[in-house]
Amino acid sequence: MAKLQELSYREVPRRLQMTPPRLYLSPPHMSGREMQYVQEAFDSNWIAPLGPNVDAFEREFAAKVGAKHALALSSGTAAIHLALIHLGVGPGDEVIVSTLTFAASANPVVYLGAQPLFIDSERTSWNMDPDLLAETLARKARRGKLPKAVIVVHLYGQTADLDRILAICNAYGVPLIEDAAEALGATYKGRSPGIFGKAGIFSFNGNKIITTSGGGMLVSDDADLIAHARKLATQARDPAPHYQHSEIGYNYRMSNVLAGIGRGQLQALDDRVRRKREIFETYRRALGDLPGISFMPEAPWGLHTRWLTVITVDADRFGVTREDIRLALEAENIESRPLWKPMHLQPVFADCEVAGGGVAEALFRDGLCLPSGTAMTETQQRRVIQRIRSMR
Ligand SMILES: *Cc1c(COP(=O)(O)O)cnc(C)c1O
Repeated sequence: MAKLQELSYREVPRRLQMTPPRLYLSPPHMSGREMQYVQEAFDSNWIAPLGPNVDAFEREFAAKVGAKHALALSSGTAAIHLALIHLGVGPGDEVIVSTLTFAASANPVVYLGAQPLFIDSERTSWNMDPDLLAETLARKARRGKLPKAVIVVHLYGQTADLDRILAICNAYGVPLIEDAAEALGATYKGRSPGIFGKAGIFSFNGNKIITTSGGGMLVSDDADLIAHARKLATQARDPAPHYQHSEIGYNYRMSNVLAGIGRGQLQALDDRVRRKREIFETYRRALGDLPGISFMPEAPWGLHTRWLTVITVDADRFGVTREDIRLALEAENIESRPLWKPMHLQPVFADCEVAGGGVAEALFRDGLCLPSGTAMTETQQRRVIQRIRSMR
């Protein structure tokens, strides 16, 4: 291909337009407040893991979501892993998990030699179906062995039907872990997800609504759970002047530098939720009239952050499939993604039990996540909208 300098003046803008800058699904969006805390870490030489930013981030995060205790970790996956260890999950146990989710929700179950059992989505929130959960627990109770825990996922910025799910878990005495990795800033009946169950987990991975580049948080009102997880996350050191260990530990703590980023990001959370919802509204107004295009519903019980704007495409009515749309956007250097492929369809979980599955399968077949970055300009969003509209 010719170098730009060798092209005619007419050809240059045409070539440049052929590769507009890539529009990502949900890239990091710094607020400008992060550097102050990162600078403090450098100035005080608190580069090592732990330190004042970590303590402050835990305090500020717990206050934000309304939890009694919070533990900053290297990832959301680590948070799930530690919660499961604390609940005593081990070889031969079963743990119930939403099927429509990212593999990180289920992988820690397997780290512990236990077996995930997947539950389908309902249509109101696309999260775990409480009726299927109730049926499954009733069946397991009759057979004499209950699962060790339930991991409910709050998908794409929206909470599951927590009151019903909690009531069912409580009826059987099975602890609930909330995977709120995608739902920071959402509400269920006015309160944050993550604080209803025995433990809640959040993620600050690069694509999440706030990010520390990588990181996670475990929250709980149970001081013993957090204290135990804190110990496990620092190689399970016993309180002794020498190094002594009476259980197996992990290196899962968050660094003081990254916690500084988290503190700055947390201050921007409300703005991010507002902007995410505004981006969703713009898509809805611009695409909502197209036959066959529907939007992820907002359940009556809470605020959906619209972390990602998700549409479903009825190919018969719209004329092309969601994959056609995805490829057309990709050709314009616009990233969009199918929904999570349900866990019960994953080769790695092929042997696992599943209750239902048809709802998640249909959502996976028809669903598409659109670019939802809070720093996206109106012009960029218009590019996405126009390309989709032009396909009819
Ligand atoms: C991102 C995510 C996780 C994992 O978080 P990490 O911080 O990347 O380990 C877990 N569950 C869900 C639903 C997620 O989207």
